[in-house]
Amino acid sequence: MPRRMFSIEKRVRQNLDGAVLDLQHAAIFKYEAPAALIETFRATWGVGPQGVVLPVTAPDGLLFPVEGVGEPFSAFSGPFAGGAKDFREVVYCFSQLGLDIYLLVDPTMPFNKTEALHVVDIVGDSSAQVCTSNPRAQEIVGAILGTGIDIVNETTKSTKGKLRGVIIDCVDLLPMGGRDERLELTCFCPSCEKYFNAQDPLILKHFRTFPNPWNLLLKVGSTGIGHVHNIRANSTPEDVVGLCRQKNYHTVFEDKSTSALLGHADALLEYIRARHNLIVTSIGKMFREALEGLDQQPRRIILGEGHQYDWTSGLVMDLLDNVDGSTLEYFDEVWFNPSSTEICLERMPFRSYMWARSRYYIDSFFQLAANASDPSRRTTLGLGRLPVPKLKALLHQRLNQAIAGAASGQTSLA
Ligand SMILES: [Zn+2]
Repeated sequence: MPRRMFSIEKRVRQNLDGAVLDLQHAAIFKYEAPAALIETFRATWGVGPQGVVLPVTAPDGLLFPVEGVGEPFSAFSGPFAGGAKDFREVVYCFSQLGLDIYLLVDPTMPFNKTEALHVVDIVGDSSAQVCTSNPRAQEIVGAILGTGIDIVNETTKSTKGKLRGVIIDCVDLLPMGGRDERLELTCFCPSCEKYFNAQDPLILKHFRTFPNPWNLLLKVGSTGIGHVHNIRANSTPEDVVGLCRQKNYHTVFEDKSTSALLGHADALLEYIRARHNLIVTSIGKMFREALEGLDQQPRRIILGEGHQYDWTSGLVMDLLDNVDGSTLEYFDEVWFNPSSTEICLERMPFRSYMWARSRYYIDSFFQLAANASDPSRRTTLGLGRLPVPKLKALLHQRLNQAIAGAASGQTSLA
């Protein structure tokens, strides 16, 4: 009797079409050769990867020189395991083994030290990451990604693997903080303010006080910020107030009447939709800058967490799936973690990213590691005030969070 195939196996096989090996940090290919990485992937998922995601930067700097961009080089910019001298040779190794190349850029460029480009929270404090709404930041990201694209195209002329896609990592564009119930959300840098004021001169005024419309759906707790993310394209102020009351977040407001809460909800939805549009167009500008003038266009992909509304990416998932297809003007595909949500995109092509909150914890671990190992950043970010054992404990905690998020098995893929 021939071996029977059950539906779970069929489903997994379907999903695995186009499996991609994601290398989140250059440290991974610094210490492990391409062939060994492919073998590990095969052992985990039962099939070999069809493509590989290579980052074009590391949290501490560039991996290759970029004309006109005077940023520092990463300590992980080569040489690499398996004999590759530089980024170009890593690309060659993978494409020679038949893997298509995807390039990923983290547009927050944590290595950038220009404060004028940084995200700013509502009380005016700056964070050590770049705001994607700033036109200069868009040009820098475009140049880095564009240079990476040229390297891959030149290197893969005679190899089986080719450049297939370019990815912008959107999981933490708008970091959030909080203290004593007060939320410190980003970003209110001059570029963001200019945009919001042009949409509605009154909108930001609602948020420059406490409590404010954010408090409807966010709450500062002892272990982080509790948040509600069931915001959809067609959510109404009534829906928002309902969610707020279910969570008991409304107690922070002095006037708890329905009409007062609805007023806040109205402002919140206006802000969320405006923010979504700003992020979509900013990401679109980076892709345009990077892809301008190419004969063959790789797929433009954005990486999100996979919540209905991702607070730290500013994206409403089902707005990406809009009926008129206008989002497809800016990018072609979305990757997100499918296990955290029931999201089903109908018009926008998507792929599953097998990690809880996608790259959120992974990025945060590598960023902390980069900051902790740089003396000047350690002082400017206040990490310098932490005694070494505490810093080590924090690194361990972030690493554990990152590792715990791995969905490494064929059933989780199904
Ligand atoms: Zn900004």
